[in-house]
Amino acid sequence: MTAYDPNNIFAKILRGELPCHKVYEDEHVFAFLDIMPRVTGHTLVIPKAPSRNILDIAPDDFAHVARGAKTIALAAMKAFNADGISVHQFSEAAGGQVVFHLHMHVLPRHDGVAMLPAASRKEDDKVLQENAAKLIAALKS
Ligand code: AMP
Repeated sequence: MTAYDPNNIFAKILRGELPCHKVYEDEHVFAFLDIMPRVTGHTLVIPKAPSRNILDIAPDDFAHVARGAKTIALAAMKAFNADGISVHQFSEAAGGQVVFHLHMHVLPRHDGVAMLPAASRKEDDKVLQENAAKLIAALKS
């Protein structure tokens, strides 16, 4: 399998070399808003351990990401008054993966509202800032 590339976008975000709208961080995981959200509040949860995808991540690191996704899911239900949550994880190009640092998408869903196609629209920075603040507040409550 292809080796992990430490210069992928999410590795740069983790190292603070690129900006992001961070919403959560602990010893093992980091979470930030997707800049091309498929729904309002679309969040990405990534491991701090360098892992390309589900095929190479250590099981314990994957468990940390799953735990982080649950934390974000519960907060997103409150923050965005959601009716449900979709969690996606894509591995390798054939699986739909575009950025090769493992990530789980946490997508707050509303009854009758379809997701936008992937990477179809870059969100306004101000809107992302407001949504990050809502999620951070819900994580604290
Ligand atoms: P995937 O197809 O699972 O690899 O999805 C990659 C996701 O990363 C897409 O939803 C993109 O919108 C998102 N994305 C790409 N670049 C950035 C970035 N700099 N900050 C936040 N999200 C990003």
